[in-house]
Amino acid sequence: MATAKSGAVVRVDFAFKRELAEKIEGNLASFCYQCGACVGDCPAATYTDDFNPREIMLKVLYGLGEELIGSDSLLWKCTNCYNCAERCPQDVKPVEVIISMKNMMADRGIYPEGVEKVIETFETTGRTVPMSSAIDKQRARFGLPPLPPVPMEEIRALIEPAPAKGEE
Ligand code: SF4
Ligand code: SF4
Repeated sequence: MATAKSGAVVRVDFAFKRELAEKIEGNLASFCYQCGACVGDCPAATYTDDFNPREIMLKVLYGLGEELIGSDSLLWKCTNCYNCAERCPQDVKPVEVIISMKNMMADRGIYPEGVEKVIETFETTGRTVPMSSAIDKQRARFGLPPLPPVPMEEIRALIEPAPAKGEE
């Protein structure tokens, strides 16, 4: 496929755009006018050489699915911090577009090593990082109380698959 680099022909992957629009329940990305305000406070952009939410949104606008979702996707570098959503004057919420593309990759069985372990830890403890006394000690240094127990019943109810239509 041609890329968005200058002078190259861009072929819009409409199937990718349709699938993404379904995932985000709308077409948030089309309101991006490429101002770059989402980049300044993005930790992934600050601490890596190749991650840039404005460029990601440009590729989304072009429908360059092959450059965004794949086994070596840089989207996993996004920390889900939501700084970009707070900065964007167009209310585009790049983070939610990125999360939707991560979900598209997960649907295809593409995710980084270690994700299954994080999911297993979450399903058994309600946390993505196992609790330890070291975490409570670190919190105490900042004047924070120990973390409260996780309400596992509520978590299980939230992550239980929704009943199929007609089974409710
Ligand atoms: S801040 Fe919003 S409008 Fe500006 S480049 Fe980022 S996503 Fe696009
Ligand atoms: S949510 Fe992701 S893209 Fe947005 S600022 Fe944070 S790391 Fe960057």
